[in-house]
Amino acid sequence: MKAVRFHQFGGPEVLRLEDIPDPVPMAGEILLRVRACGLNHLDVDCRAGVSRLPLTLPHTLGREIAGEVVALGPGVDSVRIGDRILAHIAPACGRCGACLAGRDNLCQKPNLPGIHCPGGYAELAVVSAWGMEGIPPQLSFQEAAAVPIAFGTAWHMLITRGRLRAGETVLIQAAGSTIGSAAIQVAHLAGARVITTAGSDAKLAKAKALGAHETINYREEDLVAAVRRHTDGRGVDLVFEHIGGEVFAQSLACLVPGGRMAVCGAHAGEVVPLDIIDLFRREIDLLGSFRAPSTELRQVFDLVVQGRLRPVIHAAFPLAEAAEAHRVMERREHFGKLLLVP
Ligand SMILES: [Zn+2]
Repeated sequence: MKAVRFHQFGGPEVLRLEDIPDPVPMAGEILLRVRACGLNHLDVDCRAGVSRLPLTLPHTLGREIAGEVVALGPGVDSVRIGDRILAHIAPACGRCGACLAGRDNLCQKPNLPGIHCPGGYAELAVVSAWGMEGIPPQLSFQEAAAVPIAFGTAWHMLITRGRLRAGETVLIQAAGSTIGSAAIQVAHLAGARVITTAGSDAKLAKAKALGAHETINYREEDLVAAVRRHTDGRGVDLVFEHIGGEVFAQSLACLVPGGRMAVCGAHAGEVVPLDIIDLFRREIDLLGSFRAPSTELRQVFDLVVQGRLRPVIHAAFPLAEAAEAHRVMERREHFGKLLLVP
């Protein structure tokens, strides 16, 4: 089969399309013909060697895999050859304390496709039968592959960790990012008033079409001042933060006293100063958020199937153009999901 691999860390040019032996499913595993694979910023970090994750080289990226079942490993009877499947993004052990508490996103021994084992930047991929979803006819492979990380992460951050309620105001950073475009829809569905940011008016227009009520072009306006203006000087109840760097402190400054900030990323800077006095005097809840438990992944998948959440797809690239897809992501030219279609 053909697969995109890298043998050393570096820029997009290290991604190489290669012929390698077809993988074979073991007990509890399924062989999929990959029809769509979602790209994530984590892929870029893994390729560049800055992910802080243990990768074995050469490595095949690809966390979100949708495809057709072409072979079953021993003991798998939950699917049949030809079924359309979305693989779980983080098959969990099912036995550790986190799994038993229903928080399998915090599993101590997960087996992540595209991290711990080869992912979906390939014509074929072996995936775990654990936690997969059948893709109904009304959903395309591309739409299915665009769901789990964007909508799962957004749901877990806003609804579970952030406790967002109808009538509250939420600031969603980076409307153009995949999780930003998903978060706008989740917050809208929850009945919140949505303020969002982007670096271009074209992206802000798309954000409004997804349900954002107020938009801020961060290249032209001071973020904190603009948020105050949109909230009669009050601030927002919750911030959806995944930028980090200097934006982290600005995001905190946008909160009302007693506000919450949920955080799931920090591409602009992972270590930031924090004013502890401000944190406790205003009783700010700072909430880490990591992927989503399986129950919530299933919830958002069902909402997409029902048409109440809509994956936003920017572009789909053939395997041979994986490096170009990474360049688009690094230049932040996209609005919504980037996919590979092997
Ligand atoms: Zn576990």
